Amino acid sequence: MKWMKWCPAGSHYTLSEVCPIHHAAASNPHPPKFNPKDKNGEGRRKAKGIE
Ligand SMILES: [Zn+2]
Repeated sequence: MKWMKWCPAGSHYTLSEVCPIHHAAASNPHPPKFNPKDKNGEGRRKAKGIE
């Protein structure tokens, strides 16, 4: 799942490729565990073979 991008200009997440607030190019989050909850959920789903 990838719906959030990271805006380095404002240090926040955005849904757009380009941050509408800072007009900066948003990219995938630099911290590998920007959403540990989601990562765990994905791992759990895979472990259970639902996906
Ligand atoms: Zn921004």
